[in-house]
Amino acid sequence: MIRLFDSVYGDVRELELRDPGRISMYVCGPTVYDLPHLGHGRYTLVWDVARRWYTFRGYVVDFVSNITDIDDNIISRALREGTTEPEVAARFEREWWDAMDRIGVARPSRVPHATQYVADMVELVASLLASDVAYATSDGVYFDVSRVPDYGLLAGQPLDSLRAGARIEANDEKRSPLDFAIWKFAKPGEPSWPAPFGDGRPGWHTECVVMSLDLLGEGFDLHTGGFDLRFPHHENERAQAVAAGRDFTHHWGHSGWVMVGEEKMSKSLGNFTSLTDMLEKTDARAYRLLVLRSHYRSPIEVTPDTIADAERALSRLDALARRFDLPALAGDTMVICSDYHWSGLAGALYEGVALVLDDDLNTPLAVAQLFEAVSAANAAADRGDLEESRELAGAIAVLFGALGLSLRASAAALDGQSEDLVAARDRARAQRDWAEADRLRDRLEELGWVVEDSAEGTSIRRP
Ligand SMILES: [Zn+2]
Repeated sequence: MIRLFDSVYGDVRELELRDPGRISMYVCGPTVYDLPHLGHGRYTLVWDVARRWYTFRGYVVDFVSNITDIDDNIISRALREGTTEPEVAARFEREWWDAMDRIGVARPSRVPHATQYVADMVELVASLLASDVAYATSDGVYFDVSRVPDYGLLAGQPLDSLRAGARIEANDEKRSPLDFAIWKFAKPGEPSWPAPFGDGRPGWHTECVVMSLDLLGEGFDLHTGGFDLRFPHHENERAQAVAAGRDFTHHWGHSGWVMVGEEKMSKSLGNFTSLTDMLEKTDARAYRLLVLRSHYRSPIEVTPDTIADAERALSRLDALARRFDLPALAGDTMVICSDYHWSGLAGALYEGVALVLDDDLNTPLAVAQLFEAVSAANAAADRGDLEESRELAGAIAVLFGALGLSLRASAAALDGQSEDLVAARDRARAQRDWAEADRLRDRLEELGWVVEDSAEGTSIRRP
């Protein structure tokens, strides 16, 4: 049984599945007009971990995540750069997948693009207009939130209090400041699509409700995104589904904020300016480990210091992988638990980890158990208990692999030559050949590594 916090109930609840054994989930994807930022990295990592873990536990996960390839930001960037909207969208979609590949976020089962679903969006807008839940103004079609009695369910506030807090806008044609555009009428020079109620383009909130229902069907299991999407984006998606009489998602999940230190995004402090920037400077696995060490609903601080701390922890895992010659797992192939049968310490580790991950994806508790097991595996090997230590180390590799973390540095971060030198140095130290160990340390330092010794062996990292 999978339990997960549901934002509507404000509580951890059983994820009741439409079809037993299958999980249908929709994750709101990016609007592609700029490089992915650290917040994108956090929520994609969180939901990638969830998807991988549920797959590991034997569920078939249908994972849909969209690309919003038309919006105001894309239009203004195209205008600024003297290019077209499709060119901007295609360029930043490439940047997106490049970053996703590098942090090891597996590609979604399906990736709907908003511009390919405009006809379905036109149909939804027309039906909402016909039932008088939506109304036209001079610049677009708006959804009347007062027509959905439980509007505010995801915000956790009733309509009256939301209304009291809403900003008064210049658009006095709107019946309420909370009403939102589901269709924007065409402006000269902007891309538009034909519609019986006036040519134009869809509003963002209309895209996801149409695409998720189209691909996953009514009553799909889980709709997720970053915490900032809870209101108004998800509230507004839900409101349209309710007004259209469609059974929408049965469970809402949201992941926490990213904080970048006191002075937000300041380059002078050496903070990362984008996810792409971070991936150029660090071991790509470090962000995943940083995310895993916090609960997915808590905010995390992503700075060069917290990333460096994660890199130090990774070096313990890399040392374990070298000592036991463990395979590199993770990547696009998902690990599945039925392929493994563990007993003894390894079996107990799996049981302990499964218990906390099945209960609201408690990755920090799981990671703590896995690091304790690293110490135990090394201790067992030190006292010559080879069978026990080998099985435990293997289970650690598989369980980290199930969370998408490979115990070996990627080829880019740790080339074959450096890896061979580290292994040779560990052998020299085991044989108490200190002169050779020093020579190999110098060689590694020449290659630009910081070399550190620990009980588990040599670990190297970039300065
Ligand atoms: Zn969305």
